[in-house]
Amino acid sequence: MTIETTKECVRGCSMYRRHLDECEGGNCRGCLPRRAEHGHLCWPCHRRFELMLTDAPTVSRWLTGNMRVGEGAARAKEDHEQRRGTGEPPAPLKLEVTDLRDLLGDQLAAWVDDLCEHVRLSGPGRHSVETDSRYLLTWLSTVERLDWVGDWWTELAETMSQAHALAPWRPEMKRCKGIPCPQCEETNLVIFGGEEDVTCLSCRMIIPPGRYGIWVLALGQENAEAREETA
Ligand SMILES: [Zn+2]
Ligand SMILES: [Zn+2]
Ligand SMILES: [Zn+2]
Repeated sequence: MTIETTKECVRGCSMYRRHLDECEGGNCRGCLPRRAEHGHLCWPCHRRFELMLTDAPTVSRWLTGNMRVGEGAARAKEDHEQRRGTGEPPAPLKLEVTDLRDLLGDQLAAWVDDLCEHVRLSGPGRHSVETDSRYLLTWLSTVERLDWVGDWWTELAETMSQAHALAPWRPEMKRCKGIPCPQCEETNLVIFGGEEDVTCLSCRMIIPPGRYGIWVLALGQENAEAREETA
């Protein structure tokens, strides 16, 4: 038996339109595993993880702000406790907001403790979404080498997606019209609201703003040259 280091993204990502030899084709969108380049994560998963952690304090602040609107904050706890005890109908929105805010804080705090225990770090001292997310970002390359980083990724993505559903404060997604993806060449690039990175909806590649700028410049150059040749 050969023991290999993890070469494939632990989240089971595969590459768009690239296939394993044994692939039968059909409706397969791509089955060749994407390589892990950052610990156990591939580049797009690494970047998404980094963006989610960067976003976490903003999300938490927004949830906190929304909770204080009107009567939510004072009554939230009573209702919340009742709900646990009696299995009453689903709680109103404000309670979901409180729960989610707490969940995000608890998740990040637990991960920081977990990380510190496993690699003997002293931790940030006090827990808060702000300090914990910054701490995890500082130690990101270490975090990404933990065997269970895929689980953390999934949990955080779930929390963030719930937050976005409850709090659709994000500006709209913008399409990058007429610009083909540098990876798969399909014209399906978008910028999600509030982000600077460009994401390809076809192959899921994430392109940081600097690289995207260079890509657009290069395309412009190519087009100019093509025009000159045909002129
Ligand atoms: Zn395939
Ligand atoms: Zn991945
Ligand atoms: Zn693409």
